[in-house]
Amino acid sequence: MRTDIEQDAETSQQRPEQGEEQGVSRRAFLGAAAVAGAGAALQAIAQTRTELERGRAGSSASDPGPENTVLLKANPDANLPPFTDRGNMHPIWYSFDLTQKRLQAGGWTHQVTSREISQSRELAGVNMRLTAGSFRELHWHLADEWAIMLTGRARISVMQPDGKMFLDDVGPGDLWYFPAGYPHSIQGLEGDGCEFLLVFDQGDFSEDDTFLLSEFLAHTPPEVVEKNTGWTRQEWDRLPQTALYIFEAALPGPLEEERRFLGKHLEEENRYTFRMGAMPPSFADAHGSVRIVDATNFSVARNIAAAMVSIQPGGIREMHWHPNASEWQYWIKGQGRMTVVGTEAKARTMDFRANDVGFVPAMAGHSIENTGTEELIFLEMFKASRYQDISLNQWMSRMPDSMAKAHLRLPLSTIRRAPQERVPILPR
Ligand code: MN
Ligand code: MN
Repeated sequence: MRTDIEQDAETSQQRPEQGEEQGVSRRAFLGAAAVAGAGAALQAIAQTRTELERGRAGSSASDPGPENTVLLKANPDANLPPFTDRGNMHPIWYSFDLTQKRLQAGGWTHQVTSREISQSRELAGVNMRLTAGSFRELHWHLADEWAIMLTGRARISVMQPDGKMFLDDVGPGDLWYFPAGYPHSIQGLEGDGCEFLLVFDQGDFSEDDTFLLSEFLAHTPPEVVEKNTGWTRQEWDRLPQTALYIFEAALPGPLEEERRFLGKHLEEENRYTFRMGAMPPSFADAHGSVRIVDATNFSVARNIAAAMVSIQPGGIREMHWHPNASEWQYWIKGQGRMTVVGTEAKARTMDFRANDVGFVPAMAGHSIENTGTEELIFLEMFKASRYQDISLNQWMSRMPDSMAKAHLRLPLSTIRRAPQERVPILPR
């Protein structure tokens, strides 16, 4: 029986790769497998696969009834999937452009959380805009906050439990990280202010679920505030009575001036910002690049790891998975499609564009293809202190010959034609 399989595998190079003849020879091959007793079930799967492949291309796929052609044009794979998709996988796609903006004088905010992607229990994202001078009010929250500036500039502040404050200005491609409970602020700077992405290490995080300076003071009895600060009741009455959250303000002075004000209370050891866009790539070839930032090079980022991936047109992010966390993606530029393969043969393919969010369940195998004509850039985010992935190609290259042949049913010469090392971005 083993010999039959090997013989079939060895002759597979001479037969056509696609079309009806492949179906016939697969059935011949499965006839050999039937000797092992598993034949009927395997044959049923093989026929289904052939039928599905034909159906995807033929008239069975026609849809003469009502159609939302705008959605279909943007998401062709979501509606009529590749024939390899199967089963009912949880959602792997959402877009910030489908979520309502909370709009205030000074900017806006909206979020994609486990309320939009039900299985994303580890991370949630907020996309926020601040006009020049406007503040995201001083606040803190239960989750750690990782952020990347997308456009424009901002000044950030964060205070440690030891009373030292870190102050810095950030621009496009720069990160910041605020540990849970550390009070912080963000202020848009000159020009057009800024827009940024925040990622929190709680899937059900809500941008409304934050502790605010204004509310702490407004909801403590005034006589207690007087004992705490020395401010009279009349002065307490002048404090904001409701949340400021986002509000307009004058532009700040130069960074160096505000740092001088802090003097010995300026934090200079721990760095809460990181220039991700300016760092040398962790991997680069002609087809793309990967920049990895985690606690090894950005020490304060203890709970959230990130990779910024660039793929040239036609290239793919290789088939891989992550052994330590689920993956939350933010798509920055370009377009592509991702296929995720889970347990019980569940597989889902969706199309993605800038401002979309992707999700990969923990350990699920996946790959991403640039389907556009320009560079694709997206972020892979993990609730982890270290970035880790496992490469399918690297794994197959480490399989001893007999192990590889027994599983893949291909001639060794074919098996070893695959890349023998991890290559994060592969050509078209
Ligand atoms: Mn925050
Ligand atoms: Mn990945």
